[in-house]
Amino acid sequence: MAKTAIVTGASRGIGRSIAKRLASDGFAVVVNYAGNGAQAQEVVNEIRDADGEALAVKADVSQPEEVEQLFKKTIESFGRVDVVVNNAGIMPLSQITKGDVDTFDKVIAINLRGTFLVLAQAAQNVAEGGRIIAFSSSVLAKSFPTYGPYIASKAGVEGMVPVLANELRGRNITVNAVAPGPTGTDLFLNGKTPYQIEQLSKLPPLERLGQPEDIANVVSFLAGPDGGWVNAQILRTNGGFA
Ligand code: NDP
Repeated sequence: MAKTAIVTGASRGIGRSIAKRLASDGFAVVVNYAGNGAQAQEVVNEIRDADGEALAVKADVSQPEEVEQLFKKTIESFGRVDVVVNNAGIMPLSQITKGDVDTFDKVIAINLRGTFLVLAQAAQNVAEGGRIIAFSSSVLAKSFPTYGPYIASKAGVEGMVPVLANELRGRNITVNAVAPGPTGTDLFLNGKTPYQIEQLSKLPPLERLGQPEDIANVVSFLAGPDGGWVNAQILRTNGGFA
C-alpha cells in the first residue's frame, strides 16, 4: 500500500506543484479543490500519465463536514494518510481602516478556521511517522498596508503549528509550516500591475519571483525521509525576502 498525501488547494498554483512533486516522490495523492473540478482532474490525469496514483476530492476547507469527508474518502480510497499539506488559501486585500468585516470573515474562515479543521483531522488520522504541513506567508514580516486580514489569518496559523506539535508528542509526527515569499500564482499576480509585480520580484536578494516548484521542493523535503528532524518550525521559503 503506497504512502498517501492529502494536498488541499491542489487544483492550481503552489498546491498543484506540491501534488505533482509528492506523486513523483512515490505518494498516492489526494488533489483537493474548492470549485475548479476540471483543473483538479487535469492534475490527477497528469499524475496518472506519469504512472502515479491520484484522486480529486472536492471539499471547502472552512466546512467541518467537508473536511471530515475529505479524510474519509482518502482512507476509503488509499487505506491510510501519511502526509497532510494544508496549502489552500485566499488573499483578498483590504485596508483595516475600511473595516470591511466581510473580507475579514472570509479570509479567517478559509485560511485560519480551514487550517484548524484540517490540522484537527490530520491529527486524528495521520499514521505514526507522518508529517503535517501548514501554510503561512513571509509577508507577515512586511506589514504592508491592506494585508491586515490576511496577515491576521497567517499569524494564527503560525501560532497553532507548535501547539499541535506538542499535542502529538510520542506519535513520531512532525508539524511544520512553510511560509513562501512572493510566488508566481493567481493569488499573487491577480490584481497587481506589471510595475508592482516587478518591484516585489526584486525584493529578495535572489531578485526573482518564487515559482511553485521552489515551494514544492521544500514541502517534498519536509514530507520525505530527510525532513524527519524538523519539527514545530516555520520555514521561510522566499529567496531572502525577509
Ligand atoms: P492560488 O490562488 O494559486 O490557488 C489556491 C488554491 O486553493 C486553489 O487550488 C483553490 O481551489 C484552493 N482553495 C481556495 N479556497 C479553498 C477552500 N475554501 N477550500 C479548499 N480549497 C480552496 O494560491 P497559491 O498557490 O498562491 O497559494 C497557496 C498557499 O500559499 C496559500 O495558503 C497562500 O496563502 C500561500 N502563499 C502564497 C504566496 C504567493 O505569493 N503565491 C506567498 C505566501 C503564501 P480552486 O481552484 O478550486 O478555487
